[in-house]
Amino acid sequence: MPTTYAYAARSADTPLTPFEFQRRALRELDVQIEVMYCGVCHSDLHQARNEWKNSIYPVVPGHEIVGRVTHVGRGVTRFKAGDLVGVGCLVDSCRTCPNCAEGLEQYCENGFVGTYNGVDRVSGEITYGGYSTNLVVDEAFVLRVPDNLDPAATAPLLCAGITTYSPLRQWGAGPGKKVGIVGLGGLGHMGVKLARAMGAHVVLFTTSRSKVEDAKRLGAHEVVISKSLDEMQAHANSFDFILNTVAAQHDLNPFIELLKRDGTMTLVGAPEHDHPSPQVFGLIMKRRRLAGSLIGGIAETQEMLDFCGQHGITSDIELIPMQKINDAYERMLKSDVKYRFVVDIDSLRQ
Ligand code: NAP
Ligand code: ZN
Ligand code: ZN
Repeated sequence: MPTTYAYAARSADTPLTPFEFQRRALRELDVQIEVMYCGVCHSDLHQARNEWKNSIYPVVPGHEIVGRVTHVGRGVTRFKAGDLVGVGCLVDSCRTCPNCAEGLEQYCENGFVGTYNGVDRVSGEITYGGYSTNLVVDEAFVLRVPDNLDPAATAPLLCAGITTYSPLRQWGAGPGKKVGIVGLGGLGHMGVKLARAMGAHVVLFTTSRSKVEDAKRLGAHEVVISKSLDEMQAHANSFDFILNTVAAQHDLNPFIELLKRDGTMTLVGAPEHDHPSPQVFGLIMKRRRLAGSLIGGIAETQEMLDFCGQHGITSDIELIPMQKINDAYERMLKSDVKYRFVVDIDSLRQ
């Protein structure tokens, strides 16, 4: 195995710095990938800074990965050297529990293996993610990237894309449905594009007045400044579904009030501190539901990539060298990214 060049967080309160290590030798069903691009998810920041209280250092983040296959193990049948592929948040699971059997590996009852900060099921090693020059992954967790899409702008689909696609499908976004997306960040802007392509009436909620025109260009039919009581009240009791992507603790009640009878708000944002519990009466009086959703399984991730290929959907990105990652994290915290940073991994090659 060649040396892998990467960036890692060594502790919760120090910046990411260069880190070198060796990937495992190829197992029978492994694919070795030269990483080309890796998206920067807010989860990377939560993990690098131990905001979910489970980080194992060093943390090499990155789970929005696009690259080319360079080598394959003896038993690999689905990929060959030269293939353009993607890897998302999962690199393994037990594959036998009822959830895995249904293709819902993200809900594996024995715990899925994350692309980083996970524990390899064979060796017990901690997994290192895509802020690195190469990756070794079992072929069952490798995705095909449609060849009509720009590879750099496709990388964010592997997390931001599937994390919004899966709940939009689960809760029936489509023609005749009024769908809200809360937060215009990496996840939110993909949610707008995907919900629009599915045929829903899309309303984007933002705290940033400067994002209104962009939200419309990205596909929102309407934009609401969520801090404005008047603008919020104009939509009371009208939504079939709201997807909440906000990365920080906030009051859920104003959004729950916008749901119709039987409407659902699903949380995908995973902030460091829990939201205050919403008012019970806001839920029971209209049989409203509050739900959650975690990324998506491998089959659904491939379905999402193929859907994006058919509809020409990618992420709006800002391409950065790895050396700018710490600045990128600070800008992400200020909601100052349009709308996803993607690292050009060539900047790590020596
Ligand atoms: P992001 O690019 O930083 O976007 C988050 C957006 O939330 C911001 O752009 C901003 O939108 C809004 N926001 C931020 N702080 C806010 C505040 N204090 N009050 C109200 N709105 C605020 O982050 P991301 O990468 O899209 O990730 C979003 C969240 O989803 C993170 O917590 C991440 O860990 C989580 N996540 C979950 C899953 C899952 O499977 N459930 C998968 C991936 C990521 P406006 O400027 O428009 O208001
Ligand atoms: Zn992510
Ligand atoms: Zn399982």
